[in-house]
Amino acid sequence: MSEPKRIVQLDERTIGHIAAGEVVERPAQVVKELVENSIDAGSTSILIEVERGGFDLIRITDNGSGILEEDLPLSLDRHATSKLRTETDLSEIGTLGFRGEALASIGMVSKLTISSRPAGSEARSIVMNNGDKGEVVPVGLAEGTSIEVVKLFSKQPARLSFQRRPATETSKIVDVVVSHSLSHPDVGFKLVSDEKIILDVPSVDEMDDRLYDVLGRQASKMIQLFSPPSDDSAPGEESWAGWISTPDITRGKGDEIHVLINGRPVAAQPFIQSIRRGYKTRLMQGRHPVAVLCLTIPPNEVDVNVHPTKREVRLKNSWRVLERLERSISYTLESTPTEPESSGSITGITSLAREENHSREIQKPAWAQTAQISLTGEKPIELKPKHKPRPVSESLKSQTTITGEEPISPALSRGERELHRHAGLNKEDIESTEPLGPIINDLPAMEPLAQFADTYILVQSGEELLLIDQHALHERIRYERLRYNESLWEPQERISPVPLDLDVRQIARLESRISDMTSIGFVIEKTAGGYSITSAPALLSASQLEPFIHDLLQDLSEDGAPIETIEQRKDHIAFLNACRGSVKANDKLSLAEMRRLLDDMRRIPNPWACVHGRPTAMRIPLNALDHHFGRHG
Ligand code: ADP
Ligand code: MG
Repeated sequence: MSEPKRIVQLDERTIGHIAAGEVVERPAQVVKELVENSIDAGSTSILIEVERGGFDLIRITDNGSGILEEDLPLSLDRHATSKLRTETDLSEIGTLGFRGEALASIGMVSKLTISSRPAGSEARSIVMNNGDKGEVVPVGLAEGTSIEVVKLFSKQPARLSFQRRPATETSKIVDVVVSHSLSHPDVGFKLVSDEKIILDVPSVDEMDDRLYDVLGRQASKMIQLFSPPSDDSAPGEESWAGWISTPDITRGKGDEIHVLINGRPVAAQPFIQSIRRGYKTRLMQGRHPVAVLCLTIPPNEVDVNVHPTKREVRLKNSWRVLERLERSISYTLESTPTEPESSGSITGITSLAREENHSREIQKPAWAQTAQISLTGEKPIELKPKHKPRPVSESLKSQTTITGEEPISPALSRGERELHRHAGLNKEDIESTEPLGPIINDLPAMEPLAQFADTYILVQSGEELLLIDQHALHERIRYERLRYNESLWEPQERISPVPLDLDVRQIARLESRISDMTSIGFVIEKTAGGYSITSAPALLSASQLEPFIHDLLQDLSEDGAPIETIEQRKDHIAFLNACRGSVKANDKLSLAEMRRLLDDMRRIPNPWACVHGRPTAMRIPLNALDHHFGRHG
């Protein structure tokens, strides 16, 4: 047995290093802490400059109250703060910071310079270089504070090796600045990354204006959140305000949901369920709305001291707060009048003029049609009666002889094919599609015998009878064609450029990944009126373009090779289009169409399963039939 090891008290420096690990995990967190300090100092203008995702430089300059000369050394000590005096203050936190840890922690893992000039004083500065504190020295500076962080983690190789790529970090920094700018419209923010201005929003009085500055034209599709009048008398002093998107504007991820509690941006995850429930059945599976949701709550009902970075908070009456949110969202969606004729979208922000050349097709949003139904709290009515009589297929023999139809229709010209290909998402004209390449599986030549119930194709396949689900097979074939036909992914110039509504975060991602976009066939141009797509993969219809770009930009902010993401997106688009353009059950097929499907079936790698993983065919071997009918032995 080994001896017990002795316990010793760690020295301050080691404690500092341990604590720094929690507070500063990545550059974006440094930006968050510094911006919060500037807001707490009452600044009305904050400039954020970063280089190489913040790894080389982060500099935040504000016009706030500043730090007194004699407090400068103290600001670098752990648990030294101007925002808290006693334990009792902890229950009524009105500032973003209070732990007094940020500057001390940042100074442990970088070269940190704090320069500050309170009103009526001289400017002074102090440096902390990876834990070593310097002297206070005079410096030149306007009123306010400037904090500079250089070479973050350069002395912590272990931490550095876990960091994301600079482009990823930049987009995280944009997220941080955007969420703070949404919570503080009275503060002007300017974010400059590698000398490019990413965000520049002036201080404004109205949240509406800030929303527009940050979200761009997408803001005009947001509706203002209202609580039902009955909530006025509901117990509790909390209240929700903000903006939510109409259900036809959605994202593949929830990261455009901003939740602010008393002006503090917090993680949206705990609220997502309630938000979705508020939207009822109007959101498509797996889609998320865009939202800015502001909760005002008495400070003693929220505990912000549960996590070092304060992204997580604890609410005293969380279920009540969440139910209020859900009620507000469903009330807002149900009581907002639709204005399909005038604008094609529903808007609570009427003052936002939309540029002429970007006005969209006038269209009643899909969800508006179901709004009526959900008012009664019931499920949407099923339009198709469930027990429709199954169709009876006609005999192919008589069909072909009566119409004199050729067994295989003549090939279409390339021009005709092109026409069909871009005809939208209606049923694909099976016979006019591009040929699929060589035979690659071991299926024999097959002969369609008949169609059963206009849903299944009866097929003679060598020594087997196949019952093929026509939709499943067509879907599989379409998927293969769409996914791997390079020409469909080549850029195709659009007759009229498709305008893109992008917010600042999306613009930042787009700007940093423009070459990735080009590599998959998108040409996106910036004009005075904003961004628009001038060329895009031929496969994508005009109406699919914007949602595709939105999802792609969301993916690109994540880690991992962007190419992987793009391949996944291609899969997804091919998958969606495969299903939409396929023949359905109950579609009558001609013999020629069936022949073509069976021929294509031999040219795809996995003919036995549709893209959803369901079987395409049932195989009945001849000897199984013989056995059944007692023909053996
Ligand atoms: P906390 O914000 O939790 O108090 P920090 O380590 O972030 O702890 O900051 C320590 C102190 O330094 C703050 O309490 C504040 O008094 C001062 N300080 C930091 N940044 C600024 C700033 N930009 N303007 C004015 N004072 C600042
Ligand atoms: Mg702070």
